[in-house]
Amino acid sequence: MQPLDTVAPSGLSSAIMSNHHHDDHHHGHHHDHDHSELSETELRVRALETILTQKGYVDPAALDVLIETYETKVGPRNGAQVVAKAWTDPAYRQRLLADGSAAIAELDYVGRQGEHIVVVENTPSRHNMVVCTLCSCYPWPVLGLPPVWYKSAPYRSRAVSDPRGVLHDFGFELSPETEIRVWDSTAEIRYLVLPMRPAGTDGWSAERLADLVTRDSMIGTGLPKQPHEVA
Ligand code: FE
Repeated sequence: MQPLDTVAPSGLSSAIMSNHHHDDHHHGHHHDHDHSELSETELRVRALETILTQKGYVDPAALDVLIETYETKVGPRNGAQVVAKAWTDPAYRQRLLADGSAAIAELDYVGRQGEHIVVVENTPSRHNMVVCTLCSCYPWPVLGLPPVWYKSAPYRSRAVSDPRGVLHDFGFELSPETEIRVWDSTAEIRYLVLPMRPAGTDGWSAERLADLVTRDSMIGTGLPKQPHEVA
C-alpha cells in the first residue's frame, strides 16, 4: 500500500498529481455520500427523492432513519473505541494495522462505506493525514458522516499542496522533522489514522482512553486530547 505521496520537510514532491490515478477511483455520479457544496446538487437530490418516493421506490421514513443513524449512532465514538483498544492491546493493534476492516469488524463496526478500511499509524517521525481529493470518501462505520470542511474544495486541494499549512490552520504544529503523509481516500479504500497515545496515560483503561480520541485525530487534522483536558 502506497500513500498518495510523502511530503517531506524539505519540500513538496512534484509527483503528487501525476501519482493520482483518477481512473482507479470509480467515483461515479451516484456518489450517495457526497453532499456537494453546490446547491444545484442538493436540489437535484431533493427532486430525485421526491420522484422516487412518489413512484414508491423509496420510503422517506427509512431514508430519515438511515441519515439519523449515521448522524447520531454511528460516529467518531466508534473510531475512538478502536483506537483506545489498539493503544491497550498490542495484538489488536497488530491486527488493526494488518487488516483494518477485519479488526474493526471485531468490534461490530461494519457497514456501508467501510468495506475496506486501511489504518495508518502515527509515529514520532511520521504523521498521517486523510483526504478525498475528488469528493468526500470517508470511513463511515468508524467516523460517521464527514464534517463539512472535509468535503470542502479548499481542504481537498490544500491537504495535498500544503498539508503543514492545513495543520497550522487546525491549530497545531508538527516538529519540522516529522514527515507528513497524505492519503487519498477512494470509493474502495478509506483510511483511518491511529494517533499516538498521549503521554501521562499509563495504566488508563481503554474506556478512559477513548475520551481522549477526537474525530480530527483520526483524520489526521488534529491530535488526541491531553489527560488534563478530560480531568
Ligand atoms: Fe470521495
